[in-house]
Amino acid sequence: MKKTVNDIQVKGKRVLVRCDFNVPLIDGKISDDNRIVAALPTLRKLIADGGRLVLCSHLGKPKGPDAKATLAPVAERLAEHLGKPVKFLADDAVVSDAVREAVNALKDGEVALLQNTRFRPEEGKNEEAFSKDLASLADVYVNDAFGSAHRAHCSTVGVAALVGESAVGYLMEKELKFLGEAVDKPVRPFVAILGGLKVSDKIGVINALLEKVDKLIIGGAMAYTFFRAQGYGTGTSIVEEDRIDYAKEMIQKAKDKGVELLLPIDTMITKEFKADAEWQCVDADAIPDGWQGLDIGAKTQKRFTEALQGAKTVIWNGPMGVFEFPVFAQGTLALAKAMAELDATTIIGGGDSAAAVIQLGFADKMSHISTGGGASLEFLEGKKLPGVEAVNASTPKAGV
Ligand code: AMP
Repeated sequence: MKKTVNDIQVKGKRVLVRCDFNVPLIDGKISDDNRIVAALPTLRKLIADGGRLVLCSHLGKPKGPDAKATLAPVAERLAEHLGKPVKFLADDAVVSDAVREAVNALKDGEVALLQNTRFRPEEGKNEEAFSKDLASLADVYVNDAFGSAHRAHCSTVGVAALVGESAVGYLMEKELKFLGEAVDKPVRPFVAILGGLKVSDKIGVINALLEKVDKLIIGGAMAYTFFRAQGYGTGTSIVEEDRIDYAKEMIQKAKDKGVELLLPIDTMITKEFKADAEWQCVDADAIPDGWQGLDIGAKTQKRFTEALQGAKTVIWNGPMGVFEFPVFAQGTLALAKAMAELDATTIIGGGDSAAAVIQLGFADKMSHISTGGGASLEFLEGKKLPGVEAVNASTPKAGV
């Protein structure tokens, strides 16, 4: 087990906390502050323990200093949530002499926020210069940014090796507990539901989950590549031609492993990709030319819901259809409802499935909604997450 914020002494120390403040902005305003709220338990604990908090995060994908990607709105919103000032150290270099001075002037329990870590070109390449700069602000390093843990960047990996003591925050701990237990010792029956756009994004995870689950349910656009693997026509549905053979292999692998693989038996189809398009529901092998599948059908909803009954662990990644259009959100809604009613550990694997479950009003009915889409997929694939591995992994280098 990794050390957590419960295991470290922070009183009077400068604590560099890598948060995930990558919040959506519309016209410079935060449109959803879930990620800020998710960071609060760790921050409150460190404040109560008398740490001098230096927070850092990336926001968006700027390729250097970019006023549109400033963390200023995050500082403001965070201060509201914490009920205390957050000093925003707005420096395009992220770390500078002035920033160091401000950090060294912090008193116990005070909070400062650095500028967007991606303003520094070294960040994405995990180059030492920026890792050293970050380490110069810290006596202790805490990583609570699960959503970035699959990336080896300066603020998630490089700096951890340079600071004497490190730990994970509560959010990271919770993610590792739920996802880790599901992967390592799931209470069975263990069912995984995969949907979303592309088979190619989920190749690793389909393959890995077939080693572990009792049932694998596949919906979303991904399912049409599996339709083709079964010899069905798919009209204008999204199909990855170069993954049809892979889908065949996975169908065979499920048979070999004794895993029940459930694919849609009917589908909602339309001629136009739009919210108010006319639609029909047809059997999986009856999609006419010129029609596109945008959701699972009613028979499939029933079949998938039945397959979930009695499950004790369920992991879901990827919506069953184009849930952004209410008429094609029905499959996703049916599965969210079915999951919400189970007496099971229910885990939503971040990204669009998390957005769908929150949007459809089932967030508080799930055991855990992961904050990291990419990170949770890599974790389920069995990959080691560099941002997790780096915490209490190394001895500090001299001279920092
Ligand atoms: P992902 O990021 O892979 O989880 O994919 C989520 C996206 O897949 C959402 O924006 C959905 O609208 C989209 N999606 C799901 N099912 C379909 C479908 N049948 N056709 C087109 N897009 C779909």
